[in-house]
Amino acid sequence: MSKLVIVGAVAFDAIETPFGKTDKILGGPATFIGLAASQFEVDSAIVSIVGGDFPNQYLDMFKNRGIDISSLEVVQNGKTFFWSGKYHNDMNTRDTLATELNVLADFNPVVPEKYKNSKVLMLGNLQPSVQSSVIEQMNKKPDLVILDTMNFWMDTALEDLKKVIRKVDVITINDEEARQLTSEYSLVIAAKKIMGMGPKYVVIKKGEHGALLFFENEIFYAPALPLKSVFDPTGAGDTFAGGFAGFLAQTEDFSFDNLKKAVIYGSALASFCVEKFGTERMLNLDKKELNDRILQFKNLTQFDLSK
Ligand code: AMP
Repeated sequence: MSKLVIVGAVAFDAIETPFGKTDKILGGPATFIGLAASQFEVDSAIVSIVGGDFPNQYLDMFKNRGIDISSLEVVQNGKTFFWSGKYHNDMNTRDTLATELNVLADFNPVVPEKYKNSKVLMLGNLQPSVQSSVIEQMNKKPDLVILDTMNFWMDTALEDLKKVIRKVDVITINDEEARQLTSEYSLVIAAKKIMGMGPKYVVIKKGEHGALLFFENEIFYAPALPLKSVFDPTGAGDTFAGGFAGFLAQTEDFSFDNLKKAVIYGSALASFCVEKFGTERMLNLDKKELNDRILQFKNLTQFDLSK
């Protein structure tokens, strides 16, 4: 089975949306990425850190899903990374209310030996310097290095972020962040500029308006599935990245055509994530539901020009 290394924060999130509010619940990019990737035939490992306040039941949950957590460090006298956010009425935008790095502030990642030859490396959102250190630990450059990041790191660690962007093949970023990174309003120009910074492929996530995949002069668009109810968009971007990475790790085909399919799988998985708070929906998702939704995606945009 193909191996996938996942790096990213594992977190407690407190979320407020127009539909409700949660106390500290399980979240974090590596969590959402791992759950999405576990829908595929891949052997994945999470490289991350949590505090002594992180419940064993969550650790067991990862193990039960076949996710290797030998490099998920538990600092007994530390606190888990905490993020809190409040969504606006359109659910596409949110304010960050708190970001407490806690144990993440001094994290020295260690990639498990048996994953050092993995073909796909998924660098989920956390300090860019940690993301770089993980690339350096691999025995050879993986066939595909995917990076996800956010505005927080553009504001606090831009130079480190630019350094890691130079080393990756794919970047997934949301529209506002692409604009912030490049100072360009047009996403087409922003994507071109980002390609000039290193990545061959640029994925720009547009929330409920889908995602764009840029490669050379080509653009592929995947819609987001129009849903009756969106409860909580937290983790949708990470779930997208996890589906994208999981599909590519499983298929081991890194052509543009296969990346298009990966974008659809990522979008389909993200459409489940937003249906419930936090990880709830992703913990109760089966392959049949995923496959049905892939077909819905196909039908959503298929039309016949020959008639
Ligand atoms: P998304 O909704 O996909 O953009 O990601 C939401 C997740 O990002 C939440 O689970 C948060 O814990 C996590 N998050 C928020 N801020 C940061 C940060 N600065 N570094 C790493 N993860 C973060």
